[in-house]
Amino acid sequence: MNLKSAWSRRSFLSSLGVASGSLLTSATAKAEGMFGKKPKAETKRLVDGNPIVPITSGLGSTGDIYAELGVKPLINIVGTVTVIGGSVMKPEVMELIRRGNEHFVLIDELEVAAGKFIARLCKSPAGYTGLVTGGAAAAMVVGYAAMMTEDLEERIKLCPDVATFPRNEVIIQKAHRYAFDHQIRQTGAKLVEVVTREEMIAAINPKTVAIHFTNIQSDRGQVSGPETVAIAKAHGIYTFNDASADVPPVSRLWEYPAVGFDMVTFSGGKDIQGPQASGILIGKEELIHWALLNMSPQEDRIGRCCKVGKETIFGLLKALEIFVNQDYDETLRMYDARAKLISDAIAKFGVTARPREFNPNALGNVTPRYSWQIDPTKLKITGQDVMQGLADTKPVGIGSFGAGAGGMRGRDPEAEARMKAHPELAQQRRRGNGPGRDPNTFGFAVWQLKDGEDQIIADRLVEIFSAAPKA
Ligand SMILES: *Cc1c(COP(=O)(O)O)cnc(C)c1O
Repeated sequence: MNLKSAWSRRSFLSSLGVASGSLLTSATAKAEGMFGKKPKAETKRLVDGNPIVPITSGLGSTGDIYAELGVKPLINIVGTVTVIGGSVMKPEVMELIRRGNEHFVLIDELEVAAGKFIARLCKSPAGYTGLVTGGAAAAMVVGYAAMMTEDLEERIKLCPDVATFPRNEVIIQKAHRYAFDHQIRQTGAKLVEVVTREEMIAAINPKTVAIHFTNIQSDRGQVSGPETVAIAKAHGIYTFNDASADVPPVSRLWEYPAVGFDMVTFSGGKDIQGPQASGILIGKEELIHWALLNMSPQEDRIGRCCKVGKETIFGLLKALEIFVNQDYDETLRMYDARAKLISDAIAKFGVTARPREFNPNALGNVTPRYSWQIDPTKLKITGQDVMQGLADTKPVGIGSFGAGAGGMRGRDPEAEARMKAHPELAQQRRRGNGPGRDPNTFGFAVWQLKDGEDQIIADRLVEIFSAAPKA
């Protein structure tokens, strides 16, 4: 085999696993019995090429790794949510992951170099650098640890036992409290809740180390980002902006650090489409150095469990480079084209496309949402039925409607009594549908579709509407 020519872009999707290739060809898959039988080596796939190495025995040898484990894969019409896998990496990212795996290297040296690459790519202010973390949540852990421990080895080893540290309080607006403030509390820091600007200022005391800013909820709080930064600077304390889900638009990668936040984090595994367990921390050089001191590969510190490997670092850098250099208008046209393919396929059932909903300046998860209107005088099927039909699609589910995609919860001994007392809660949960939506509509996002999946969705919708009772 001529390796050079074999390393086309085409050869790569295969490195995502033969299964992902097979997922993309429902019609082809049915015709060729791909999900049941071992695919022939020469089987033509709609999306991409040849495996890096043929797997001839054990896991992966049937060509469908998900079926081998008895797990149903999903087509993502939901968003960049971790519970269903976030996003998938582009072939170029997979290639850098492969090459990153080729050598041993001093991880700390690689991290420092990667940080400079990130800072350059993200036009970070002078004196700032980057760090590849094991997700944005991990960036919060090592970032907050850094602010409290500085570079003092004794403190680094003590964290999260921070009671004796000079500064261990973090101010947060009440409206900014959220599931990820657990990662601040995890470092031992104590959260101090405030509502107004005056309360924020009054809460600052010699124990205060930082003010946390939850970007995606910032419209609910009374104190803006620039105000938060100004207050913190006036009192010699740090600021941290969690902007994990807040690109696109790409400009936020440079705008938020430029506001003056000491640290800003973005998820690597959301729309940046890097490795799922990666994140970016951009911040003042000194703070980033302290964050790395609190992190793997170093041992005996809180961030030892926030490990990133050389593969992840290279994968993230490539994904970020592609993300920064993309033509977003072109990306939007691609999303529109996917939605149009679906609209055209279902028009014959009297199902019509509704206007695209898109707020390019939304605080997070910026992407268009497409929806369609069912004509109840023609078909007796609700939007909810359609979404359920998509989710029930076999062998690859489309979306995750009602499939517990909120993640697993620990046991709650009170839950049964609560549901008995408030049966409407149980019903709401079963419906899994936001209030206020017209029951004759359905809709979703197409940004995380892989090539060819729009056609799979269109085909499945045709099946669903063909089987629907006529009104
Ligand atoms: C997704 C998300 C996180 C966590 O990011 P990971 O990269 O998955 O660790 C933190 N904060 C917000 C607001 C998020 O949306």
